[in-house]
Amino acid sequence: MKTTDRRRFLQASLTGIAGLASVPLLGELEGCAPLPSRPAAAVPAAALTSEKLTDRIAVIGGAPGNVVALSSSDGVLLVDSGSAALARSVQASLAGARVRTLINTHYHADQTGGNELFGAKGATIHSQEITREWVATAYYVPADDRWVKALPKVAWPTVTFREKAEMQAGAERIECGYLLEAHTRGDCYVFFRDSNVLAVGCVSSPLRDPALDWYAGGWIGGRADALADLVKLANDDTKIVPAYGPVLTRAELAAERDMMAYLYTRTTELTDHGRSAKDMLNAGVMNEVSEKFHRTFKDPYRFLYDVSKGLWAHYTNFGGNIV
Ligand SMILES: [Zn+2]
Repeated sequence: MKTTDRRRFLQASLTGIAGLASVPLLGELEGCAPLPSRPAAAVPAAALTSEKLTDRIAVIGGAPGNVVALSSSDGVLLVDSGSAALARSVQASLAGARVRTLINTHYHADQTGGNELFGAKGATIHSQEITREWVATAYYVPADDRWVKALPKVAWPTVTFREKAEMQAGAERIECGYLLEAHTRGDCYVFFRDSNVLAVGCVSSPLRDPALDWYAGGWIGGRADALADLVKLANDDTKIVPAYGPVLTRAELAAERDMMAYLYTRTTELTDHGRSAKDMLNAGVMNEVSEKFHRTFKDPYRFLYDVSKGLWAHYTNFGGNIV
């Protein structure tokens, strides 16, 4: 591609990404873990939102979550592909620019639903290696008592990593890193080093109740550690993009880290004394969270149930002292 062509292409891509209508986010009630229990209705591209974070990075919202789009001389790179029902809308929002690279932050259908479309058009899909296993295998969803089929092969990540991956897209250096058992067992962050933009998937949840997909290995200890790692990775100028909700500052992420560390300590203490999720609720754990962190959960029992399930899967952390 000649320099002038590339410049024109870049301008077209950015105009497309940044030129979307600004309307409220869709799917605010769709859950992230483990899958939306009902398929999202198809909506036109105009229903998506766009927020330009830098001259080359935009956040496409309402797909139903956030999709991060980087425009570079190597084409478009996406972090997550939205739901299957909204994949064409995401594609339309790119104004014809080709998606060369797609990185999945984890396996959930609202992050991997567009993989088939973009994979079929030639995008190379990257993920942490366990996420690849989940999209390539049928799995059970205990909360809904149902099975989900594996995605077709064209939708599978073909480039995987265990701990870290580095890549370059145009002038942008990109780092992907594993977040151990933070939401599922295969989460990663995507850090755009030169633009100082950090995509964290469902590991941060500023508006919705934090989701712990315990059946897929997510648990509160993993989430507390992952939030602490992400805060260390960021600085005061970092723009942090969660899967759902607004772009965050490091201070806002640190507040979520503190809340999760508190919840980890309290729920571990109670589980150590043989308390169930219901007992934790009755002990007022979530009221303490509202008071200390000014955060009210929509379904506190559901959250504590998932916390409890995950803690019992890690009972060896209690030191064998359960009474
Ligand atoms: Zn998720």
